Parts: sequence; C-alpha cells; structure tokens
Amino acid sequence: MAKIKKKIKTIKVDADKCNGCRGCEIVCSAFHSTPRYSTINPARSRIQIIRHPLKDVWLPIFAGEYTPAECMGREKYVIDGKEYDECTFCRATCPSRDIFKEPDSGLPLKCDMCEDEPPLEQPKCVEWCLNDVLVYEEREEEVEESVEMEKVETGLVSMIDKYGLDKVAEAIARISQKD
Ligand code: SF4
Ligand code: SF4
Repeated sequence: MAKIKKKIKTIKVDADKCNGCRGCEIVCSAFHSTPRYSTINPARSRIQIIRHPLKDVWLPIFAGEYTPAECMGREKYVIDGKEYDECTFCRATCPSRDIFKEPDSGLPLKCDMCEDEPPLEQPKCVEWCLNDVLVYEEREEEVEESVEMEKVETGLVSMIDKYGLDKVAEAIARISQKD
C-alpha cells in the first residue's frame, strides 16, 4: 500500500499557565464569524475554558469530533488536589452537555486549526494567548494513501451536501486552473 507524507498540526496546552482570560475564545469566535471578525460570541468558540474559579481551575479544551451518543465514562480526576468532573477533559460534541454547539442551530462545532487561504502561520488562539499556554506544533507522518483518499471523498460528499454539486465543481475547476 502506497504511503504519503501528511502534515500533522497540534496545539500543546500548558494548562498551569492559563489564567482564564478567555482571549482564545473571543478570537476564535470572531475569526469564525461570517464575515470574518464581524461578531464576538464565545459560545461559538471552538476552544472553551472550563472554569471553576473557586478551585482555581482554568482549563482550555478544543472542540473535537461529534458523537451522537453519550458515553459510559464516569471517571473523576484529582490532579494537584483539584477534582475535575467526569466530562472535563472530553473534546466531543455530545448530547449530554451544551458546549461545542452552535447556539442558534445546535449544530456541532469543531476546531479546524483556523484553516484559511492563504494559510495562517499559526492558529488564532495560539497567537492571542499572551501567557504562552497554547503552543503550535507541526510534524510530518507517513499515512496510507487509501485512508487519506477516503477522508477526501467523505469531505467532498459533505461539501456537496452543504453547497451543492455545481458550486463544488466550479471551485474544483477554478483550483485546477491555478499553476
Ligand atoms: S488566552 Fe490563554 S490564558 Fe487566556 S484563557 Fe485562553 S488559554 Fe488561558
Ligand atoms: S485553532 Fe483556530 S479553530 Fe481551533 S480553537 Fe484555536 S482559534 Fe479556534
């Protein structure tokens, strides 16, 4: 099976440095508003700060995959004497809680690493975190080409569902004419 190189983008979180300022939530929601920077609504942010001010807990969590069913996990975590609820570290958009849902429609939100054209040097939340909590990292990994093609096909199907075949075909034709 052919292997291809894939760029993996990650954001490392140094949670001890977070002071709960919520700058990351603000800029994420502004960057993803339409048009860009037209509104600020942290409820639309793809990063959420789990806040327990009385326990001195500020924990940034990124929106991950959508899951249609609540999981069975009921663990509690105690770290440095602070107790965290069972769902605190979970990134899923799930029926049992309200975070990572578009406030008007209820549709799931997911961190897209601020994909843009041309690409940004680093995601907006990383750029705006003045406490160096969020550190952007890139690495290359070898992956199966067939698996990547399946992902491309799945992405194309959802784009067609959302925008219609004609618009997607027009965009592909436009891109293929570029050098
Ligand atoms: S911008 Fe940085 S310090 Fe402020 S809440 Fe977000 S992660 Fe924490
Ligand atoms: S990387 Fe971009 S999309 Fe993801 S949480 Fe940060 S600002 Fe939002």
